Amino acid sequence: MLIKNKNIRITGLIPFHILIIFISILVILIYFTGCASAKKYTLDFPDYNGYVNDYTDTLSAEWKTKTENLAQAVREETSCEIAVAVIDELGGATIEEYAAGLFAKWGIGKKDKDNGVLLLVALKDKQLRIEVGYGLEAIIPDLRAKDIIDDVITPRFKNSDYDSGVYNGVVAIANIIYEEQDKNLLPYSDNFINQPKREFSDTPAFAALIILATLLPWIVFALIFLISFLRSYIKKHRCPRCKKIALVIKTKILSSPTYESSGRAHVEKFCRKCGYAEKSTITLPILKKSSYSGSGSYGSSFSSGSSSSGSSGSSSSFGGGSSGGGGASGRW
Ligand SMILES: [Zn+2]
Repeated sequence: MLIKNKNIRITGLIPFHILIIFISILVILIYFTGCASAKKYTLDFPDYNGYVNDYTDTLSAEWKTKTENLAQAVREETSCEIAVAVIDELGGATIEEYAAGLFAKWGIGKKDKDNGVLLLVALKDKQLRIEVGYGLEAIIPDLRAKDIIDDVITPRFKNSDYDSGVYNGVVAIANIIYEEQDKNLLPYSDNFINQPKREFSDTPAFAALIILATLLPWIVFALIFLISFLRSYIKKHRCPRCKKIALVIKTKILSSPTYESSGRAHVEKFCRKCGYAEKSTITLPILKKSSYSGSGSYGSSFSSGSSSSGSSGSSSSFGGGSSGGGGASGRW
């Protein structure tokens, strides 16, 4: 009997702890797949001349100035920095990689606020991206940036109207920041396309995302619980003779255990498949009083946040902010 049980334990099931570790790793891998696949490119990022940097000579001087002035105004009124880069092509990188690299090189946004936004346009690749600094990710979430790309910029780009596509894209970005700070919103330069109307928080995608993010740890816990339950169920109900999970167990308590004495129970096991039967009397352990001595000396230390004494920067240079891969990309 004893030897048989041992055999079951070794051959019948994957060891529990290995299963748990395996599933945990799997879940973590799925969760972080997006962040993990970053290839390294050695790219030469251009220097910036101002807020609007067109390395392709596509934007007209008039619209470029108009967009510059807008970005300048946003910075003066909100300290947020909006930069525009129009490049020819991505040189083998993805638009996400290029945008992140350029953002990091330029340091868009104040260093201690990371309140910068980069609108990157790769003309020949027909791709664009709005890269959002850490500090603005809460008010410009990815789907909101995607709305600007889809509703404001790409429709104009499809008409080869890069001037107003870039300008109105910056207007849309600025308006999110202005809206957050209860400032007056800017008009679009034309009525070509409707303003992005969907609030990100109203979209079903947002709701699904929140639900998923909230539930994920619980799903993992539930899975772990389920597996441990199943494992103990299988172990308990496996017939020692035919090895099928067909054991019916009836327990009848003869005397309940107390704090002073142990109890006794009569256990009947019967296999529905092969008819194996087993009767035994087991001892129920003495109840234990929960002696809980809480020696509660919790260390109370807060980690001190780093405060960077970043220089505020002259009017023509960005403040050294960083982005964390937030934003949205699109094609036209
Ligand atoms: Zn059996």
